[in-house]
Amino acid sequence: TVNIDNYIIDVSQAFLDISKYSRDELIGQHHSIIRHPDMAATIYEKMWETIHSGVSWKGELKCLAKDGSAFWVDVVMEPDHDEHGNVIGCTSIRHDISDKKRIEKLSETDHLTGLFNRAKIDTFFNLEMQKFHRYKQHVSVVMCDVDNFKTVNDMYGHQLGDNVLIEVARVLSSNIREVDIVGRWGGEEFMIICPSQDIEGAMALAEKLRMCIAASEFPELGKVTASFGVTTSKIDEDETRESIVKRADEALYIAKQLGRDRVIHC
Ligand code: GH3
Ligand code: MG
Ligand code: MG
Repeated sequence: TVNIDNYIIDVSQAFLDISKYSRDELIGQHHSIIRHPDMAATIYEKMWETIHSGVSWKGELKCLAKDGSAFWVDVVMEPDHDEHGNVIGCTSIRHDISDKKRIEKLSETDHLTGLFNRAKIDTFFNLEMQKFHRYKQHVSVVMCDVDNFKTVNDMYGHQLGDNVLIEVARVLSSNIREVDIVGRWGGEEFMIICPSQDIEGAMALAEKLRMCIAASEFPELGKVTASFGVTTSKIDEDETRESIVKRADEALYIAKQLGRDRVIHC
């Protein structure tokens, strides 16, 4: 329970258990003490706005425990009123959903690279396709395949091959926009989905990624290159996720044919 200025005035034992605080440590503190830095400020703004307008708020929040660890809670926040009906604070009921979140995260993560896995890319891609067909908001795709990777494995072993994949994944994920998502599509193939990005933008991104990989120093084996196939959604009723992926694949195939370490669009 917090007052109108979001200072904690009461707290349940269950919440003390998951947050690892004692009652004395929380009472009188500002609500933001349990706010996790990963949670966007806009979520909290929206939440308080809703509460202060007298309406209850429901959602999932990542919170910060006393020891700095994170926990997830499913929250229902009900505004508290005085006898005149004015909002004077709110009471929240929280359930620990950290396990659910852990499983959710595992089910969408590629274990070797930590990137999203193919299932998650498909889910994300499907949502972008809906936006594309509804609002004509384009989505571009960059397919990336490490060159001569079989040789890397054969010459240096599978373990070093794995390390190359981890490093390539790091380069890719640290060079894309916040709205883009990158995942592992298969063995040594990666896919980047770029919402509201035209073909020029996607080509520029792929070219940047190609150069970053080519410029990276890989322990023991030195240089590694990758080839890229790029495409964007076409205004066509028959356009599907599959038809887009097929074009990206074709572009990638041509990039390999032309000698690898290059970006081709289709
Ligand atoms: P290209 O330049 O035409 O792409 O040639 P390539 O050798 O990269 O392509 P190919 O498809 O022939 O080989 C891909 C290799 O990637 C074969 C497979 O053993 C290896 N691979 C797939 N997944 C993994 C993995 O998780 N770890 C390691 N170390 N190797 C993997
Ligand atoms: Mg391949
Ligand atoms: Mg390859």
